[in-house]
Amino acid sequence: MKFVRTHLAWKVFLSYLLVVLVGGVVLITAASLSVPAAFERHMASMNAIMTNGNTVGNNQQMQTELFSQYTAAVYEAVTYAVVAALIAAILASFFISRQVVTPMLRMMSLSHRIAEGEYEERLALPGGQQADQIDELGQLALSFNQMADKLEKTETMRRELIGDVTHELRTPLTAVKGYLEGLIDGVLPADPETYQQIHSEIDRLQRLVNDLQELSRVEAGAFQLLLTPVSPSSLIERIQSTLGRQFEDKNIQLEISVESDLPDILVDKDRILQVLTNLVGNALQYTPSGGKVTLLVRRERSDVLFSVKDSGIGITAEQLAFIFNRFYRTDKSRTRASGGSGIGLTIAKALVQAHQGKIWAESNGEGKGSTFSFLIPISR
Ligand code: ADP
Repeated sequence: MKFVRTHLAWKVFLSYLLVVLVGGVVLITAASLSVPAAFERHMASMNAIMTNGNTVGNNQQMQTELFSQYTAAVYEAVTYAVVAALIAAILASFFISRQVVTPMLRMMSLSHRIAEGEYEERLALPGGQQADQIDELGQLALSFNQMADKLEKTETMRRELIGDVTHELRTPLTAVKGYLEGLIDGVLPADPETYQQIHSEIDRLQRLVNDLQELSRVEAGAFQLLLTPVSPSSLIERIQSTLGRQFEDKNIQLEISVESDLPDILVDKDRILQVLTNLVGNALQYTPSGGKVTLLVRRERSDVLFSVKDSGIGITAEQLAFIFNRFYRTDKSRTRASGGSGIGLTIAKALVQAHQGKIWAESNGEGKGSTFSFLIPISR
């Protein structure tokens, strides 16, 4: 009987069947009751007719009598059947409309409330349906709830983004305003150093705006991957040539370990270089001089693993949970001072995911270094 409970069409069909059955049963019952009574009446009137002597006239009168008794019996039975079918139809349509109309009305009023910005409420399964036995209306309610979940999430993200952006913009703007007020009041000297400070704050603002633009493009998936077969070792060579010098300057050892005979991966070269530059750049930034950064590439089943391990400041277990969230920085004052906006890892994650890959971070805790790794599938 599960298919009856899970299909609205079956419920409607069963309600029609019920009306037909009730009408039929009442018709048969009424006919079986009214026909003997009509027969009795016919016999009684036949006796009365037989007692008067006119045979030809009697025959005709008896036929008319029989016909009228017969039609009266049929009408009586049909009337009972129609009344019973009508009652059954009223009950069945009441039941079906309650099953269909009530959830629809609820859905309508909830959609109005969602349109007005109230996202908390959800629809219950209609008619107390169980989760494993839901019909089309139940599925509609579930889809409606899913839509409401998505809308609520998008709205929350939108609100958080506006809050985050406002917060991030306010800090450098306040700094610039402070410098300018200092200059106007004559508290700060109008020398190259002051102008340099203002310039670097504006520079930070510009970087932030660029990062935000990139973030919104990447998060919305509004970018095209130019996929080409790329050898992993060529990526590492590029990173070494662009960042190697900075490692030397900061006196950090850059160790590179690339497995031999690695297959090519189908990636957007510039995008993967962007991810690697971010991870290696972070390792460089968050590792004190005299430290070590290891860049490792090897095959891991059907993927190529890229891993950047540093001996730097490390990340606590609580911080690890948020490290890929936008604007998240483990030490806000230090990283903001060094120009970090906390968007790089968010973009890196979106780019790796766009390649059907996976990215994660590990650390044994504060002061114990960190490892950032990502996997890129070999064949897609
Ligand atoms: P940012 O531009 O601030 O570096 P990211 O998104 O690249 O932005 O990094 C987010 C935060 O994660 C950083 O501000 C820093 O607190 C932390 N972080 C990233 N990489 C490392 C690392 N190798 N060691 C320690 N902390 C790191």
